[in-house]
Amino acid sequence: MKAEMIAVGTELLLGQIVNSNAQAISIKLAELGVDVYFQTVVGDNPGRLREAIEIGRSRAELLVFTGGLGPTQDDLTKDVLAAYLNRRLMLHEPSMEKIEKLFSSRGMAMVESNRKQAMMIEGCVPLENTTGLAVGNGLAVDGTYYMLLPGPPKEMQPMLDGAGTDWLRSLLGEERPLYSRLLKFAGIGESNLEAELMDLIESQGETTIAPYAKEGEVAIRVSTKAYTPEEADGKLDVSVNEIMRRAGDFLYAQEDIPIEEAIVRLLRSSGRRMASAESVSGGLLGEMVTNVPGSSGEYAGGVITYTNRMKHVLLGIPMSQLEGEGAPGAVSESTAAMMAENVRALLDVDFGIALTGVAGPAESEGKPVGLVYFAIAEKGKPTKVHTTHLSGGRGMIRLRAVKAAFYRLWQSLQQ
Ligand code: ATP
Ligand code: MG
Repeated sequence: MKAEMIAVGTELLLGQIVNSNAQAISIKLAELGVDVYFQTVVGDNPGRLREAIEIGRSRAELLVFTGGLGPTQDDLTKDVLAAYLNRRLMLHEPSMEKIEKLFSSRGMAMVESNRKQAMMIEGCVPLENTTGLAVGNGLAVDGTYYMLLPGPPKEMQPMLDGAGTDWLRSLLGEERPLYSRLLKFAGIGESNLEAELMDLIESQGETTIAPYAKEGEVAIRVSTKAYTPEEADGKLDVSVNEIMRRAGDFLYAQEDIPIEEAIVRLLRSSGRRMASAESVSGGLLGEMVTNVPGSSGEYAGGVITYTNRMKHVLLGIPMSQLEGEGAPGAVSESTAAMMAENVRALLDVDFGIALTGVAGPAESEGKPVGLVYFAIAEKGKPTKVHTTHLSGGRGMIRLRAVKAAFYRLWQSLQQ
């Protein structure tokens, strides 16, 4: 359902008060799955309010008003809307009783203008005001819904959360629920993935495709509305199949799990194990794998061989490989390969994975920031080494390097 919020009050236009009701109402509508497309502010002026109603009706199914339900001359929301819809205003007896009681309890005579607060538009659902006097209205006329809420936030919010939410839910009950699937990708950046799918994203019909990136991973949410889960599956399958046809090589899960979890599952189902040797990532890879519950069955462990000496002592890499005139150096393809092979052999597991590179901020061995080599050594197969040039700060380079290595390991596990 598409909604528009109309805040009524000249003081809003003059900048005397902040339109905080707009935020509160938008938050609530978003929670309920109602799409707010416009927020309008209009002064206490019958002609312009009418115009706002006219425009709102043309582009939204639900108009939510705040303000102008009070007793004074300038409170005209109900009158203007009633006149616009050709409906009468009727007295809401319980509200009238409440107002009369309040005045008598204070020993005062009721001012006639207070009757206004107990008036409601013919045919509406009265929305109880638990913290004030003016009754709210929920109304359906010719396929458009109107909700009238008071202006003071301390009255508006309880009404919106109470009777207002009940009324909105009753409208949405007829709506189809939203179903969605999450697709997780690795080895491809958000912008590249988006480019692959641009025409699908832009031709959003009932099924929407929304990419987003977080923590070195890219995800796509595919959503649709349907009456039944079966209908939803049918519609989602069409979009998911098309996405897979274009970017299936990078899709590692159809649920919200990190790639390391997908790796642990693949290792487990094939009865294989892995170990790691990390330099540039300083243990981040081990940290991420061990974050997966129960990964001890698949992850034998790892070493953080940060210095050349550690690479030599723990992994047996010759010093002549690591330093000195003409040596490949710690940051090199051949060192990455040796680290992966040696840690694999040391622990006698199926996969050894290793990373070496420059996270910055300064270059190292004359090699640039962001250059990372990683290697995957698989028992009985030639070792694969990959070179990446990553951007970002130190933390981002390390995270991206590990995610890139995971992606290649995941690929090896697929084969
Ligand atoms: P009252 O019975 O108090 O007259 P009302 O429903 O007629 O309430 P208004 O007269 O439009 O509402 O506004 C009353 C007060 O409520 C304003 O002076 C302001 O303090 C607050 N208010 C009104 N609209 C908003 C808004 N959109 N966001 C935040 N506060 C608002
Ligand atoms: Mg008022």
